[in-house]
Amino acid sequence: MVISKAIQEEVIQALIQRNGEVHRHRIEIGVRQVAARWHASDGSADDFHAFCRAHFYPREEQRELVFQRFLSKLESLFGNLHRIYRELHRELHVDTGPMLPIDSLFAGYDPFAHVQEDLFQTRLAFVALLNFPIYDLNTKNQDGINWSRRQWAEARLADYFRQRIPASVLQHRTATYTRADEYISKYNIHMDRLRVQGQPAGFPEGQKLISHWGLRDEIKALYAQPDGLPRQRLIYQIMNRILQQDIPEIVIDNPEVEWDPLANRVYRDGKPLPPPIPPEGNRRYQYLKSVFDAERGIDAHTPDTPSLIERRFLLDREIPEAEVERLITDVLSAPVLPSIARIIQQRLGRPLEPFDIWYVGLKPEPQIPEEDLDRQVRQQFPTVGAFQDKLVDILRRLGFSRDRAEYLAARICVEPARGAGHALGAEMRGDRAYLRTRVPGEGMNYKGFNTAMHELGHTVEQVLTLEEMDYYTLHGVPNTGFTEAFAFLFQSRDFEVLGISPETTHWMEWLAIHEMWSAFEIAGVALVDMRIWRWMYAHPSASPDDLKLAVLEIAREVWNQYFAPVLGVADQEILAIYSHIIDTGMYIPDYLLGHLIAYQIFHYMQDKDLAAEMERMCKLGRLTPQVWMHQAIGEPISADRLIQSATEAVRILQPSLE
Ligand SMILES: [Zn+2]
Repeated sequence: MVISKAIQEEVIQALIQRNGEVHRHRIEIGVRQVAARWHASDGSADDFHAFCRAHFYPREEQRELVFQRFLSKLESLFGNLHRIYRELHRELHVDTGPMLPIDSLFAGYDPFAHVQEDLFQTRLAFVALLNFPIYDLNTKNQDGINWSRRQWAEARLADYFRQRIPASVLQHRTATYTRADEYISKYNIHMDRLRVQGQPAGFPEGQKLISHWGLRDEIKALYAQPDGLPRQRLIYQIMNRILQQDIPEIVIDNPEVEWDPLANRVYRDGKPLPPPIPPEGNRRYQYLKSVFDAERGIDAHTPDTPSLIERRFLLDREIPEAEVERLITDVLSAPVLPSIARIIQQRLGRPLEPFDIWYVGLKPEPQIPEEDLDRQVRQQFPTVGAFQDKLVDILRRLGFSRDRAEYLAARICVEPARGAGHALGAEMRGDRAYLRTRVPGEGMNYKGFNTAMHELGHTVEQVLTLEEMDYYTLHGVPNTGFTEAFAFLFQSRDFEVLGISPETTHWMEWLAIHEMWSAFEIAGVALVDMRIWRWMYAHPSASPDDLKLAVLEIAREVWNQYFAPVLGVADQEILAIYSHIIDTGMYIPDYLLGHLIAYQIFHYMQDKDLAAEMERMCKLGRLTPQVWMHQAIGEPISADRLIQSATEAVRILQPSLE
């Protein structure tokens, strides 16, 4: 630390003398917060002293003005930079016609890259740190229940400046994640090149699937085909070879060779390739290790949270690690799971196989043929413009008053998406949220409409949590699980909006069972992800080969403890196939939290007025997850609601299952 303890004490004493003993506590916190983040390049000890003298505001009226300045200037700064970001990404996100190579260069320009360091170098961050205390998660969760909105807004202001990580360290981390991400995003398997005993394995010409999402979704899709089982097993074998890394390097993303995943032989034009055929080896685990090393580089610069594990739980998720682990094990050991496994087994008419963790047949589907749905949707929404024009109608059908529907619709801009669709909220009032959706030439189809309803849920949340937020630093929701909850709610009301009654019996019951089975799968992956990071921190200098063995062992352990008893098969490693384990730095637990939070809010809303409740909840803004849940629905984040609903559903449906 550039500013020694002795200098800090000297400055604290000087400020107390100047401003009065009554300010001692605030002075001590402020001076220490600034000193902890003051670099040599910020100035000498004398500069530090002079800065603290000039910028400590003892009088409440002045402090109020400083606070207001931060609110309006940060909104302008972040809001306008976000508009630039949106414009630079326009061609990538919006279907504007053929792309030019320069479009991805514009998209690679990050207008936020230097903001944090600039705020420190201009000393603005230090003014905030000198006058507004940073609170830890415990204090926020315990005292925060009784805090005023203003106290929360001040706490969030200080949070912006909690970390000061040198730009070069951040750049190294970004580059590492980008490389890992590239490795993952190019990991394709050419399915039409797969062979079984010399014969094509039966996948359509030109089919290319990305690991693991594409492979997994193909396993899901094959449940609908009576002869899908051998291909499901083949895909499972491919996944195992990727995990074990004995997949031949030459078959990855390469349409030029044929591969027999069972025998693990490679052919070109039907003739066996001469040995040696090098396996991928341990590349997958090299990338994971590089992500770990990059995060270790950050550790030294975040002394309050000196590991990615602490940063993820205490700063990003704001739910302690032990609490998340309890939610995970609650799901994994839910007594209802064996009953759901029996339902699946009855439906499939065979003993369960490991990949049945992805069984999708429980999801309630409308009893209306897809073509009929497509036709109805196409009539109502022939173009992207039609969806924009009907926003007011759609919102009114969801229960918003005419006034509020018009207010919201005026702040949402619908555009044609290049990809599947997404929602991009604003960062300053007066701007608009962008709903990007895909509408083919012949008009919107049902799947597209269903996705557009999901994105509409996001954009309505984005408008409500910004435009009418009492303090800018509180805008938004605690984390992605909360915005997904609203998106899911809108999506689930799609028939209501179309004006059709789907006549699905026991819709709520099947939904609960489906959600429980999905939560089971993702909880397993989340636990594997967490245990891998613990292992890496316990063995910081392990080689990629050691890491590979550890990952596979962790995956088997979790499987044997929780999945083997339910599915009846032991010693599987499949939970480790999730690509995001490699390239996101322990993001997977967020999926489970999203599931649980979304289900709790969904359940709470069943007998309530969606529009009124959503408006009320969106006013809460960025509290911590537990405080938000407490104020929104009066219960903490918990797996109980989902487990209870699924248990009840199995009981209700049981007679028809016998
Ligand atoms: Zn979403």
